[in-house]
Amino acid sequence: MSMGARFCPDKTFNPRKLLICIKSKATMKITKLVCTPLLVPNKVPYHWAHGVIMGATVILVEVQTDEGISGYGECIGTPSAEAICCYLKLAEKMIVGHDPFENARLLREIYHRFFQAHGNCSAPRYAGMLLAGLEMALWDVMGKSTDKAVHELLGGALHDKISYFGFVQGETPDELAAHARILCDEGCEVIYAKVGRGDKLDYEIVKSIRDAIGNEKRLRIDPNEHWDPQTAVRMIAKLSQFDIDFVEQPSHCESISALAQIHAGSPVSISADQAVFTPFDTYDVCREKAADIIVLGLHETGGISRFRQCAGIAEAAGLNICIHGLHETGITTCAMIQAASTIPNIDDGNQYMNHLLAWDIIDSPNLELQKGKLPIVSGPGLGFSLNVDAVEAAKQAFLESDQS
Ligand SMILES: [Mg+2]
Repeated sequence: MSMGARFCPDKTFNPRKLLICIKSKATMKITKLVCTPLLVPNKVPYHWAHGVIMGATVILVEVQTDEGISGYGECIGTPSAEAICCYLKLAEKMIVGHDPFENARLLREIYHRFFQAHGNCSAPRYAGMLLAGLEMALWDVMGKSTDKAVHELLGGALHDKISYFGFVQGETPDELAAHARILCDEGCEVIYAKVGRGDKLDYEIVKSIRDAIGNEKRLRIDPNEHWDPQTAVRMIAKLSQFDIDFVEQPSHCESISALAQIHAGSPVSISADQAVFTPFDTYDVCREKAADIIVLGLHETGGISRFRQCAGIAEAAGLNICIHGLHETGITTCAMIQAASTIPNIDDGNQYMNHLLAWDIIDSPNLELQKGKLPIVSGPGLGFSLNVDAVEAAKQAFLESDQS
């Protein structure tokens, strides 16, 4: 299929040409969905409130078409890559034979069949994690088939660059503080650190980092739901002396009321992270004034379209969206940039995680921060090229792990 056939650029009306155009538009079909579990190790162990993580388990999702165009996305492989692959293989039966440009309808039907189960159950958050990779891959196909970057298909980019925070890594307060200083020297204006590891250690972490980075840089902390409201009130009051930019998701993800309770009395801004997956969550956080900003990524929303829906709801409430990172590869980073570049209310200290990996499964683009920023990604599609040797190595690493 050529671009001309799909979009009929010849404005002269000709019924025969129109017929060819309509026939041609219906020609591209999805032929296969391939799911490959991968494991990519981290550079250093990742310490946070839920323990230590040694690498990223993801599922490479490939949508193949009868025109030889393949699109790629990825799903987060937790809690079970095998279980997610089973669902994706069921989804394959619902998309084979359809045009990738039916993306929105296909995803809606899959969601309804598997996660609303025709009214018998509801698992919207799991659905978002599971469908994200498929949705990304369909966008990649659509972009490649039209020779356009995905952000162009979404109306065009509003930003030239996306700004990221410096994500400190290490175990001890001294290690974290030393890394924070390096990130500041590299040009990051916002520093972000994990806490929720115990009151005394949290205090030492925040104090050490603030001492290391000085008073000019902004400092965010994330207890990852580990504080109940009482602990949150106590710790936020204690840590506020270190000029905290915001505290991210201090309390349990399932209680927007608890988040609102903490937010109402907090001297520090509060962000909602794990409390928000869907447009409905976004609306509830805004309505209940539970946070000052929403942290959100494609693996929560189920892909690019619903991410943009959530961003629109937040915009109407006056809130920005801060990109959320998970244990993911450059595929997600590129897809996230495509989406984030099209929303007006993107934050200036976003998160990405593929730079924590020892190596990535993409060859290009270069995703090394330049003074805390990444340029938007050009196309076609999501704009990355896979490193097939790295994919194979990650495939073997998964097979040799205790997760397979
Ligand atoms: Mg978080």
